[in-house]
Amino acid sequence: MGLMIYNSLSNKLEEFKPIQPNKVNMYVCGPTVYNYIHIGNARPIVFYDVLRNYLEFIGYEVTYASNVTDVDDKIINQALAEGKTEKEIASFYEKAYFDAVKLLGSSEPDLIPHATDYIPDMISFINELINKGYAYEVDGDVFFRVNKIADYGCLSNQVSEDLESGARISVNTKKENPLDFSLWKKTEVGIKWDSPFGSGRPGWHTECVVMNHKLFGDTLDIHGGGMDLKFPHHENEIAQSEALYHNHLAKYWMHVGRLEFEGQKMSKSLHNVILVKDLANTMNGMIMRMVLAFTPYRNNFSYSEQIFDFYKKTFEKWQRAYKQGLYELQLQELTPNEFCDTDIEKFKEYMNQDFNVQNVLMLIENIVKDLNVAIRTKNLAETAKKWLTLDKILAVMGVNLFVEKLNEEQLEVYKAWLNARALKDFEKADIYRNKLMDWKLI
Ligand SMILES: [Zn+2]
Repeated sequence: MGLMIYNSLSNKLEEFKPIQPNKVNMYVCGPTVYNYIHIGNARPIVFYDVLRNYLEFIGYEVTYASNVTDVDDKIINQALAEGKTEKEIASFYEKAYFDAVKLLGSSEPDLIPHATDYIPDMISFINELINKGYAYEVDGDVFFRVNKIADYGCLSNQVSEDLESGARISVNTKKENPLDFSLWKKTEVGIKWDSPFGSGRPGWHTECVVMNHKLFGDTLDIHGGGMDLKFPHHENEIAQSEALYHNHLAKYWMHVGRLEFEGQKMSKSLHNVILVKDLANTMNGMIMRMVLAFTPYRNNFSYSEQIFDFYKKTFEKWQRAYKQGLYELQLQELTPNEFCDTDIEKFKEYMNQDFNVQNVLMLIENIVKDLNVAIRTKNLAETAKKWLTLDKILAVMGVNLFVEKLNEEQLEVYKAWLNARALKDFEKADIYRNKLMDWKLI
């Protein structure tokens, strides 16, 4: 059995079969850049990076796109509050976002479309929806006519009546139906563009569907995001795509669970937000990555300091074994070139089960144990195999243990230390040991 992933659209585990052979196109809804990100926002950054790595590991050529929403009410409000332009706000927080991406050990997406670069495409897209009767203009605003889509609610599994009673809370008298959503917003304040419907700016749901279609046409395999985006954002992307392209935009929809704080959503209004940049003052970003990478992606996850402590210890344990293995191989002048096949097969088996990362965690723990035994018993061939396997699996999970090979000078001191120890010359051994400790090598 190949890779099984849970498709949010069918609510089933499905075998992953990309639209084009050997190629995978994926699009993940990225940030609206008006603030620093919190640890909950970091979950998709880590999960989809692991997903990309894994797809590449099993032989696919992956194109990973993630957008930057650089026009939005929140950005406009932040710009007004700080007395800056929207562009200044957006570029400042975009940089902060990609600093966090790096800190968390994720690579940047291959494509980073910015909403403001696609405004003319969005305007003609909206025009086409109007021409085909899927959208209507009222006094400079344009709305999508939801009742034209027979299976509206297919992603979030809601029927129109339930959705309507929810939507009535915020009644917009301009709309034909409370569920209709905004494609073009007439705006008086902040950045705006001219259009046949008057000056304003596009709605968020339109931004993503237009960029998606522009980049991938009908070849989008995976559309991802956080669970909170399922409704209305993704539902509305699908509705627009059904209207003009008669498809569900992507073959597989994937959603990452929420991160909660004491049972509640992490949000600014609840004053329980833990920013990634603040957490980075107390721990290295790799600990955060491990916490997020080894949490099953669909589960909600509750923030707790104990979990971070657990992974801090785990990180140190893995780092010690990995480092000792590397130095041992260097001392013996051995370049590892063979994996432990059974471990690699197990890794694939677990990852293929919709990313059973908890089993992967146990597998890595066992490899680390085996590696320690191999080092202790001076089984060089086994040390090489286990070390290389550990190195590979950690690379796919994106866990960097920050260990480098010894340079010549360091290697000499390391050898001298081992020698002195073997000769029970403890005075000398201490001198070398201190030096190695100064270099943070042991
Ligand atoms: Zn989106």
